Amino acid sequence: MDLPIRCDHMNRPQLTAVCVFCGSRDGINPNFVNASIALGQECAQRDIRVVYGGAGVGMMGAVAKAALDEGGAVTGIVPKFLTEMEPQLDGLTDVRLTETMHERKILMYKMSDAFVIMPGGIGTLDETMEILTWRQLQVHDKPVIIANLEGYWDPFLDLMEHVIGEGYAGENVRDLYRTVSTVEEILPAISEDLAALPTPSKIKP
Ligand code: AMP
Repeated sequence: MDLPIRCDHMNRPQLTAVCVFCGSRDGINPNFVNASIALGQECAQRDIRVVYGGAGVGMMGAVAKAALDEGGAVTGIVPKFLTEMEPQLDGLTDVRLTETMHERKILMYKMSDAFVIMPGGIGTLDETMEILTWRQLQVHDKPVIIANLEGYWDPFLDLMEHVIGEGYAGENVRDLYRTVSTVEEILPAISEDLAALPTPSKIKP
C-alpha cells in the first residue's frame, strides 16, 4: 500500500483524521449544510482532525467552521493558485499549500485515516472516484463512507450498479465504499470499518 493506515502501538488502526469531500456551494437543501455543521462538531468533540480543501465557502466551509468553533483541529490543503483566486478560511489550525491539485489530493489522502463523501458537485465526484479507484488498485485500504443524506447519492449508487451490471466492474466494487443515510452514522461506520480491516500493513511514518 502506498498510503498505509496509521496504527496505535497495538497495531490497531486509528481514527485521528477524517478527510471530508463536499460541495463548495451550499446547494438548495439547508439540511445538508446543517449536516455538515453536525459532522464538523462531532469530529471536534471526538478529537478527530478534519482534513479538507481549505475554503471558507459552501458545505466545505460549514464543516470546517463548525469544527473550529467547537475547538477542533482542521487542516486545509490548498493549491497556491486557489489562494490567489479567493481567500481561504481564517483560523485554520493547519494550512498546507501545494503547487498542484494532484499534490493537494495526495496530501489529503496521506493525512487522513478515512474519507467521507457529503453532498457536492463535480469536485466532490472527482475526489470520490479517485479515492475509490485508488482503493480498487490497492493503493490504500482506508474506509470511504458515502453520506447518502436524503438519497442525494442515489443516482451515483445507481450508476455504480449499472457499471457492475454491464460488466465493467466486479461485484466487489461495492466493497470499496459504505453507505450511510444520516450524519450520526458516519463516524461509527468508519470505526467499524477500521476495526474490520485485516492486519494493517505498516505503521505510517
Ligand atoms: P464541488 O463539489 O465541485 O463544489 O467541489 C468541491 C471539492 O473540490 C472540494 O472537496 C474541494 O477539494 C475542491 N474545491 C472546489 N472548490 C474549491 C474552493 N473554492 N476552494 C478549495 N477547494 C475547492
